[in-house]
Amino acid sequence: MPSDDLFDEAGRQLTVCNSCRYCAGYCPVWPALELRTTLELQDITHLANLCHDCGDCLSACMYAPPHEFAVAPPSVFAEVRADTYRRYVWPHRAPGRLGTGLAFAAVCLALALLSRLFTDRWFVVADRPGDPYEILPHVPLLIAVGAPSLWATGVFGWAALRYWRDVHGRLADLLRLRVWRTTFLQSVQLRHMEGGGAGCEVPGRRGFHLVLLYGFGLCALSTAAAAVLQNVLGAQPPYPWLSVPVISGSVGGIAMLVGGTGLWVRAGGSGFLWALLVLAATGMLTLLLRETVVFGPLLLLHVGAVATAFGVSPYTKFVHWIFRMLSIHHDNLER
Ligand code: SF4
Ligand code: SF4
Repeated sequence: MPSDDLFDEAGRQLTVCNSCRYCAGYCPVWPALELRTTLELQDITHLANLCHDCGDCLSACMYAPPHEFAVAPPSVFAEVRADTYRRYVWPHRAPGRLGTGLAFAAVCLALALLSRLFTDRWFVVADRPGDPYEILPHVPLLIAVGAPSLWATGVFGWAALRYWRDVHGRLADLLRLRVWRTTFLQSVQLRHMEGGGAGCEVPGRRGFHLVLLYGFGLCALSTAAAAVLQNVLGAQPPYPWLSVPVISGSVGGIAMLVGGTGLWVRAGGSGFLWALLVLAATGMLTLLLRETVVFGPLLLLHVGAVATAFGVSPYTKFVHWIFRMLSIHHDNLER
């Protein structure tokens, strides 16, 4: 649907909702709607990103299709969110599934060539089994992972600033740490997915989403702990099984596989979910087989998966977290 038509349609449906107000206690979208007598484009954008797509309002709605009012908030909000991602994420052109697959293949090939150039130690058991630097030296490895991460951080940051300026306005409110605490707690519990008490309409979706989220967080902790051990404490990899990087990475990897697979089965998979599963699976295999001859190729595949996933993440469904957190923060400030 063209953007203008989409916002007209969303405004029409929300005007019905604002008269009805049956869903007032379902989630923060409805009290936030009641605060608004007119609906501008940025109001609709905010409400759509505040919606966690639990589906409870649609199940309860007496004006849902086939009623002539044809009210279906979760669907129209999903379309507005897709419009948000297109409008605020730069550059606007997403690579698509084929582009992502080709990027993954190109990154793996480049890593393989670099490895051949610098170490040429594929398919041999390393002198220090599990030492990544015997496969790829520190600097190329750092660039392979760091460059896409920096790129994604920059794109997320710029999109966040533009979104916040349009939806909220006051940049200083981004520094309200007390409100951020509430926002953070609500976000990491997916609290707004509880809907009217029945929870998400798709059984297990919220649980699997949380497991995936915490798994991702533990893997990030593993990377941060390894960086501190190496750069601050001078302890070089590989790290023992009973160390913070290995324990948090293992538990996080398993959680990502469980959460991602469950989400895929229950709610259908996006391209990025697939990329996360590849990332988690190659990470676990690299760890489990680090004392064998396949450690080298697996490590290169894993680094390739990490670099590709981070590089394309702003152009996938993954980007939703930034707009959703900002909408929750805006909502908490309004209250
Ligand atoms: S979704 Fe339906 S029941 Fe809920 S407020 Fe809107 S019109 Fe009323
Ligand atoms: S979070 Fe659930 S109840 Fe609230 S608007 Fe979205 S689908 Fe409806």
